[in-house]
Amino acid sequence: MPTAPRKGRIMQIGTLSAKPGEKVFGFLETSRTMSQLPVHMPVNILCGREDGPTLLVLAAVHGAEIVGSLGIGKILREVDPNELKGTLILVPVANTAGFEFFRRTNAWDDHDQGMSGMIGGEAPNASPDGTPSQQLAWLYLNELLPQADAVIDIHSGRGTSYPFYTICTYDPDHEEVYQRSLELAKAFGLREIWRSTPWGPQKPGGFKDVCNRRGIPYILPEMGGGPNFLNQGHHLVDLCAQGIKNVMKKMGIMAGEICLDHDSVDLVDATHTMSTGIRAGFLELQFDRGEFVKKGEIYAKIYHPYTGELIDEIRAPGDGYVLNAGQVWPAVGQHVWLAALSDKIERVSLDD
Ligand SMILES: [Zn+2]
Repeated sequence: MPTAPRKGRIMQIGTLSAKPGEKVFGFLETSRTMSQLPVHMPVNILCGREDGPTLLVLAAVHGAEIVGSLGIGKILREVDPNELKGTLILVPVANTAGFEFFRRTNAWDDHDQGMSGMIGGEAPNASPDGTPSQQLAWLYLNELLPQADAVIDIHSGRGTSYPFYTICTYDPDHEEVYQRSLELAKAFGLREIWRSTPWGPQKPGGFKDVCNRRGIPYILPEMGGGPNFLNQGHHLVDLCAQGIKNVMKKMGIMAGEICLDHDSVDLVDATHTMSTGIRAGFLELQFDRGEFVKKGEIYAKIYHPYTGELIDEIRAPGDGYVLNAGQVWPAVGQHVWLAALSDKIERVSLDD
């Protein structure tokens, strides 16, 4: 005998509320800027007809990284809350001031870590009466995160960079939540999953760390980027929307089969990075993504932009496969991240 559907519940987030079957858009306000502009976070709530888990999807925490925002727009056009068992909370641009001014950080206070660096855990960075970034962090921790059973924090490159992988950091102190995060990362669908990042363990109090401590799975897809996006980037937007739907299916919020373009994922530990040094100029890469570079081999050459002379060689700091990350535009400044390497690739079948 079929079980009776569990009736949905009203989703209340700050001043916004959505009844079962409703799609609601509004702003959660925090502080005011010097010129008294409201600093707000745009939020969409898709409240399922039936009760179930809640997925929180954030994009553009780094304001210029908009591929996730495009993916969320597609979800908003395609998903009907009447067909959901559970709730979808979509924040298309978490850092509106960064977005407004085409920059990564929050223009209202320009904290160099951006908003994610301000999600300072319980203290001291997230604050109800701090800077705009600190107040946004407070809003995230106290209004959005308590509703979430899982978080997707979507980042991307811009016109000059192409990162294409999902970060799902291994943390021995939170093994169980890591395993649940890994299942969501596999469902999201990007082939490359980073178990560690070259910039070290997640900062205490960062997004991921707070989620771990609260037992909430968290994944951070990097959704590509690069020049010529309007001609060649559509598939990234489609993949992003498909990834969000796949995670909803995995969580039981949406019905249907998970759609994947491959039957395995590559688990990697991004152990080394390569960056330009003090000599900026025109970049020429010597290796493609996926190729193996030996320690000391030349990964990239830098040429003088006016004389054409070779002015620097960037050598691999260790052995490794070139990961799906880094610079894709030939004019590079000083200390620009060019690539990451992983000393091994563990290919895991998705058959189970
Ligand atoms: Zn980012």
